[in-house]
Parts: sequence; C-alpha cells; structure tokens
Amino acid sequence: MTDIPGFRPATTLVHGGTERSGFGETAEALFLTSGFVYDSAEQAEATFAGTEAHYQYSRFGNPTVAMLERRLALLEGAEACRVTASGMAAVHAALLSHLRAGDRVVAARALFGSCHWIVSTLLPRYGITGEFVDGPDLEQWRAALRRPAQMVLLESPSNPMLEVIDLPAVSRLAHDAGALVVVDNVFATPLLQQPLQLGADIVVYSCTKHIDGQGRVLGGAVLGSQAWVNGTLQPFIRNTGPTLSAFNAWLLLKGLETLSLRVRAASQTAAQLADFLAAQPGIVRALYPTRADHPQHALAARQMSGGGTLISFELAGGKAAAFRFMNALRLIRISNNLGDTKSLATHPATTTHMRIGAEERMRLGITDGVVRLSVGLEDPADLTDDLAEALRAAS
Ligand SMILES: *Cc1c(COP(=O)(O)O)cnc(C)c1O
Repeated sequence: MTDIPGFRPATTLVHGGTERSGFGETAEALFLTSGFVYDSAEQAEATFAGTEAHYQYSRFGNPTVAMLERRLALLEGAEACRVTASGMAAVHAALLSHLRAGDRVVAARALFGSCHWIVSTLLPRYGITGEFVDGPDLEQWRAALRRPAQMVLLESPSNPMLEVIDLPAVSRLAHDAGALVVVDNVFATPLLQQPLQLGADIVVYSCTKHIDGQGRVLGGAVLGSQAWVNGTLQPFIRNTGPTLSAFNAWLLLKGLETLSLRVRAASQTAAQLADFLAAQPGIVRALYPTRADHPQHALAARQMSGGGTLISFELAGGKAAAFRFMNALRLIRISNNLGDTKSLATHPATTTHMRIGAEERMRLGITDGVVRLSVGLEDPADLTDDLAEALRAAS
C-alpha cells in the first residue's frame, strides 16, 4: 500500500491508500462486487470471528471504498475514516452513532439546511435536545456549554454567509462540557483547514462538493480517532447501511487526484472576483474570508490557509435585483450545488435557505439580495465579464 505518512498533500491525493491487485494496475481498481468468497469454511469462520482479515460484504467493507477511506485519512491527518453515500449520511451517522436519549447537542445556527433539520427536528424525536448559538459569538458558546453536552456541531466557513468560527476556542469550551466537536469542513476543503489539528474531534465532508468537484456523484466522509470510528461509528454504519458504492468511491478517488489543482485555481479566481465585486456599484457587501472587510478575517487568516472557492454578496435592490442579475448571467449557471468546476450562482433565500423561514434568515444575515457564487475553473476574465454584464443588467 502506498501509505507513507510523510507525503505532502498533493502527493497523498495521487498515491495515498492505493492498494494494487495481483495484476499491478496503474489506476485504482474498481471492485464492483457485493460479496466475497472464502477458500474454506474455516476461513469464513475466522473472518467472522475477527481473527483473519478478509473482506466479507460491501455494505461494510470493499477494497475500492477502503482505498478512498485511507486516502482521505492520510490527507486529513486522521487516524481513521469511513465514507458514506452522501454528505448527509455522513452527518447523520456521526451524530446518531454517538448520541442517545437525554443527550444534548449545541450547534452553530448557520448550518447546511439538512444539518439544521437533523438538530432541530430529528434529534428531539429521540429525546436529544438541540440548542443553537451564533457561531462567531464565543459568549454564546460559553453560556450554552456551561451545562454538560455530548456533541457540538458547526460549519466554518458557513453556508452561505461565510461566517468563520474560532475552532480552538469552541473546542476547548466543548471539551470542558464533555462534548465531542464535529466540524462540517465542506467549504474549507481538507486542503485549506485541518479541524483536527485545531482541536476538533470529528470532521465530516460532503464529497459531492470539491472532492468529486466535477458534478458527477454524491458521497460523504467521517474522520476521527481509531477508537471512535471503529468503536462507535463503524457498528452504526455496518448495521444501518448508508454505504457508498464502489463505483462512486472510484470516481471520488479520481476526483481527489486533482483536488489541490482545482481548489488552488478556483480559490485564486474567487479572491479576485470578490475584490472585483466589492468595488462595483449596486453591491452592498462582498463576503470572502480573507478580505480585510470580512468580520472574522483575522481569525480566518489564523486557521485557514486560503479563502476557498465561495463568495457571497448582497445586491442593493433585494430579490428583484438578485433575480435580474442571475437571469442575466450567461456563463455562470444557476444551481444550488457548489464546489464544481463550473461556476454556479445560488439565491439562498428562495432555494437552499427557503425552509428555515424569514426570521432565521434575518438572524443569519441572509437578506433577499444575497447571492452565493461557487467559483469554478473557467478563465477568470470570462467570469469577470459575465458578472459585470449581469450587474449592468440588474441595475
Ligand atoms: C452539500 C452539503 C452537505 C450535504 O451533502 P450531500 O452530499 O448533499 O448529502 C452538508 N454540509 C454542507 C456544508 C454542504 O455543502
């Protein structure tokens, strides 16, 4: 297995976890098999007893899927990883495998819509209470974590307002309260922020976003300590079956090979476009974590090595201006997805964040003029032209 931990990220992305079959193939082998055969009844018995390492059934183990898990773990600097069929399956498994009736979760208010639903609606059905705080406000975390809690869930930078949360400070407060810290690291990607090094215990990804990055498949990942992943998460995954298909794992392995090239190029373009947008008339504010006018930009500089591929900005003129702007885009497409090679624009208030309601949107600053832009790999000049023309049309 190509598993030398000292490799730098770009090398790990290409080689990490590769395990060749007897044919010595260059590319990762795709094992499209649901089951595995044994040489003898004794070998089957030993496999089930755990005294012999042998694949049993692809619901809980497959060689192609294992290569992806190993590569992600090496990249993240995590002891262990399990992948799932979607990002939401990863979040759901991380929470439900750990929590039980009577437990308490403290979460940042600015969560991906379905994560918010799990904490606010699903967990209470099982007697698990959820409490929301404003992520950047450490006083609110301190107050909420004065009482014991079992898990903290947060996203930084957040979707769509790119709020940055102090991961070391929140992790300290959480640990004092007895909670494990789960960070949804989708916006930062494994390349621009390493939550485990900043104090978090568990990292989750929607691999659907930058890790595939080419709009093809859904996938998720959960990373953490060997003891937690094997003792707590794995029995849940094994017995409930949110399994990633080997075919999707194979596509994600190929996606990882170019992750650093794609994230670096798109982040560079995003930083340029954020500066361009901030200087245009008709734009109230452009949010990008490394811009000097971002409310937590000093914190972002401490815990991230780049601003990422997403920008959010607010048009003067509310929903009507935002819709005129989006409908006038010719290159950038309208989509609720993100992290793609193709640049995508979203109007959060009427799509991804419609269900949370107007009051919660106002609390998060998601006004009707806010547009989220996921920057892809097009020529930055073509993207700038497209934005400039659409802004003219909107004004
Ligand atoms: C997309 C996304 C998810 C959910 O992932 P799926 O792969 O769509 O299930 C969770 N968190 C964040 C921040 C996301 O962007």
